[in-house]
Amino acid sequence: MVVVSKVLSLSTSQRRQLIDITDQVQNYVSGGWVHDGICTISAPHATAAIIANENENGLVRDILAKIEDLFPESSRYAHNAIDDNADAHLAAAFLGHSRSFPITKGRLVRGTWQNIFLVELDGPRSRREIHLQLIGDG
Ligand code: ZN
Repeated sequence: MVVVSKVLSLSTSQRRQLIDITDQVQNYVSGGWVHDGICTISAPHATAAIIANENENGLVRDILAKIEDLFPESSRYAHNAIDDNADAHLAAAFLGHSRSFPITKGRLVRGTWQNIFLVELDGPRSRREIHLQLIGDG
């Protein structure tokens, strides 16, 4: 069994923002470390998330609008007594901090319309990390 990992780091420019990281993930998997296994994509943050969906401009706006519908910035939250970002924590908790995909024959198995995004929920931030870990047969 082979286990390899890599940390991607990036900066964000908006309070809420979707950043497509599909190419970086796919390039790492294409490095050939793992022939058959699993790729985990994990953001070690309480106010960011990882999702998979279509990278279409209208849909990206729809996703951001739905996050605002479900977790409005203006609402009163208990956490805001000590911090001002409860909406970001809530959205991150419900979206989830990681996704995993199969690796088959050295390729990331994902649908045509499944791009992989970091979801920034409390930006802008100078540094967000995304940990990629590949586990399987080399
Ligand atoms: Zn907080």
